[in-house]
Amino acid sequence: MAAPSSLASSNMSRLSGFSRRAVAFTPATSAPQQLRLGCSRRRAQRIVAMAGSGKFFVGGNWKCNGTKDSVSKLVSELNAATLEPDVDVVVAPPFIYIDQVKNSLTDRIELSAQNVWVGKGGAYTGEISAEQLVDIGCKWVILGHSERRNIGENDDFIGKKAAYALSQNVKVIACIGELLEEREAGKTFDVCFRQMKAYADNITNWTDVVIAYEPVWAIGTGKVASPEQAQEVHAAIRDWLKTNVSPDVASSIRIIYGGSVNAGNCADLAKKEDIDGFLVGGASLKGPDFATIINSVTSKKVAA
Ligand code: PEP
Repeated sequence: MAAPSSLASSNMSRLSGFSRRAVAFTPATSAPQQLRLGCSRRRAQRIVAMAGSGKFFVGGNWKCNGTKDSVSKLVSELNAATLEPDVDVVVAPPFIYIDQVKNSLTDRIELSAQNVWVGKGGAYTGEISAEQLVDIGCKWVILGHSERRNIGENDDFIGKKAAYALSQNVKVIACIGELLEEREAGKTFDVCFRQMKAYADNITNWTDVVIAYEPVWAIGTGKVASPEQAQEVHAAIRDWLKTNVSPDVASSIRIIYGGSVNAGNCADLAKKEDIDGFLVGGASLKGPDFATIINSVTSKKVAA
C-alpha cells in the first residue's frame, strides 16, 4: 500500500520517538471489500504506533433516516441488547427524534446531535443551538462529517462550531478524512492534518473530544479501509496531536474509525492498536449489528 503522502516517511520516523511497540506494516493482498490503493508505490514499511488510553467508544450516526415507528423499533432492539460494560456508546438520531429517543432509550446509551449552530441561538432559521441540545439532555454532537463538508461547511466554520459546542459542555465527535482522489494523490496525511489544525486552532480543552477518522471513500460505500490503512492514519493523527497539541492529549484522546464498519469487519479493525472504537452509519440502524460492533471491544482485549 502506498504511503498516504510524501509526509509518510518523515512521520514514520517521528512516530518511533514515542512508540510502545513496533508493528510490521504490510499491504493487504486480497480483500474484496477493502479498497487497496497505490500498493506499488511502497511495498512495505514499518510504522510504530502508540495506543490511546481512552475507553472504547462507539457512535451510531442515524443520519436522515427513520420514522417514529422505525425509531421506536430500533430503540427496543438497543434496549434489549447485551452490551459490554467498558464501552462508551452514543447514538445520533435526526434532531426531530432526539426527544423521542431520549424518553425511551436506556440511559446506558448517550445521545448525540448530527449538527449544531456555530454560536448562541437567536434569529438563525432552521438551526439548533448547543444550549438547546443541553436543554433536552443531548450530550454530544457530530461535527465535520463529510456529508456536511460536502454541502459547504469549511474547516474554520467546523472548528468554530466545535469550540462553541464545547464551551456549552456539549461533547464533540470531530470528523476528518480524505476524499478518494486525495488518497490517490498521496495527500491523505496533508488533508487530515489540515482538518486537525482547524480543530486545534479553536479547541483549548480536548477532554470532551473524540476524533473520528472517516475516509470519505469508505462512507456508505461498502469499501471499508483495511485495518492496516486505518491504523496507519490513526497513528499519524496521534503523532500529529503529540507534536502540535500535547503528549497527554495524544495518549488520552479516542481516535475512532468510520466508513462501512459492520458486524463482520469490526473485530479485525478493533484489534488495531490505535483504533479506539467506531463511528457507524448504515449498520447502526440495525440494533443487533450495532450491538455486535459495540461488543467488538472484546477483540481488542484479546489483541492486547
Ligand atoms: C458515517 O456516516 O459516519 C459512516 C461511517 O457511515 P457508514 O458506516 O454507513 O459508512
